[in-house]
Amino acid sequence: VHRLGLRYRVAVRPVKEVRRSADLVFAGARVAVFLDGCFWHACPEHFVPPSTNAGYWDAKIAGNVARDRDTDRKLASAGWLVMRIWEHEKAEVGAARVDKAVRRRQRNPARRSATR
Ligand SMILES: [Zn+2]
Repeated sequence: VHRLGLRYRVAVRPVKEVRRSADLVFAGARVAVFLDGCFWHACPEHFVPPSTNAGYWDAKIAGNVARDRDTDRKLASAGWLVMRIWEHEKAEVGAARVDKAVRRRQRNPARRSATR
């Protein structure tokens, strides 16, 4: 994303009052990008529940996913576009997706709240 010419902050809170940090934060366009690990965020393609301590892991991963959705809702209601890139996605593909979204929102600031 940096190579595509975009500038952003890393691992900061997009919204001060919402105690969640995003991996990449584009303040001008109000785009928050999260890089989600396939295991920790229960990727539908790759997540395999561990067989040992199943109860612990079920609760742990379900908690992560619930927190992700809560983060998505909180940031969206503050006018942010939340993007999630899976660990398994090709970096160039994810970067292109982010680049497109950031530039679109930079061009159309009035449509920000509508494009959640
Ligand atoms: Zn995956």
